[in-house]
Amino acid sequence: MSVALKGFIVACPKCGAEKQINVPESLFYQKKFGTVKIKVPQGAVCKDHNFIVFISTKGKIVGYDVIDTSVSSNGDVNLSEEIINLTLDQLIEAFGFNCVAGLIHAKLFDYPSFVLRSEKFNINIEQLDEMFDNVIPLKYRNNNAIRDAEFDNNVFTNEDYFYTAFKNNNTNAFLINNRKAVIQQPWNTPCDFEKSILDNALGRSDKGEQLKYLAQYINQFIKDVEFTATLLENSKKISEKDLVKQLKEKLIVSTINKKRVLIIKEFIKQRFSSELSDKIKN
Ligand SMILES: [Zn+2]
Repeated sequence: MSVALKGFIVACPKCGAEKQINVPESLFYQKKFGTVKIKVPQGAVCKDHNFIVFISTKGKIVGYDVIDTSVSSNGDVNLSEEIINLTLDQLIEAFGFNCVAGLIHAKLFDYPSFVLRSEKFNINIEQLDEMFDNVIPLKYRNNNAIRDAEFDNNVFTNEDYFYTAFKNNNTNAFLINNRKAVIQQPWNTPCDFEKSILDNALGRSDKGEQLKYLAQYINQFIKDVEFTATLLENSKKISEKDLVKQLKEKLIVSTINKKRVLIIKEFIKQRFSSELSDKIKN
């Protein structure tokens, strides 16, 4: 007899790697309320990490936990005072790789963002916002601060209902929760750019400098964007292919390829004007 399985796309909270895992459906019948806790062994989703994924009885991923956390021994994160002094490693430890990548995207591309939390989570959201602002050039910081919203179990009988209600009222916002899960992503493109600069920054051996590197990569990206915008202002239209060629010649310190051009285009559309970005033809 075969066991009925339910597939979930799971993302490693430490490195962002994604893969489907299959879970016996019977696990969800056995438990009527709350969440099902599944241990994901090293090698199942990515080659380096093991972690725990929490799935609600309604079948939605509602959180992750890293198993061998170096920040706190009990797994609960208490960051109230010192979030501004966190290293990039610790930030990812606390929020998860994909949530951090998404928050960078939200801040850079000017989307509202929220951390949905249960009352236990003690984070200083203004400091968190300031930390993300600090990696973005002054001119491009915006009024879309990271905010938080608390799950009130007197109002909502379960977390899923709270998320659904919150999503309906904030369709344009990036939503994560305090358990490293992305609840809603309002853009279509995967955060490849943000993930790659996070990877590069994490690869730097001096942990104290990792955030500075992150800021540098973003600054370089903005320079590329501004150069491209000027180029577009002075041309009628240009094909993606020609643009890649031209940027390759002019922007020698950056790695220009089609992916880079698409993210530049996206930024111009979102932050400058769609009229300008529309000059890039595919
Ligand atoms: Zn991993």
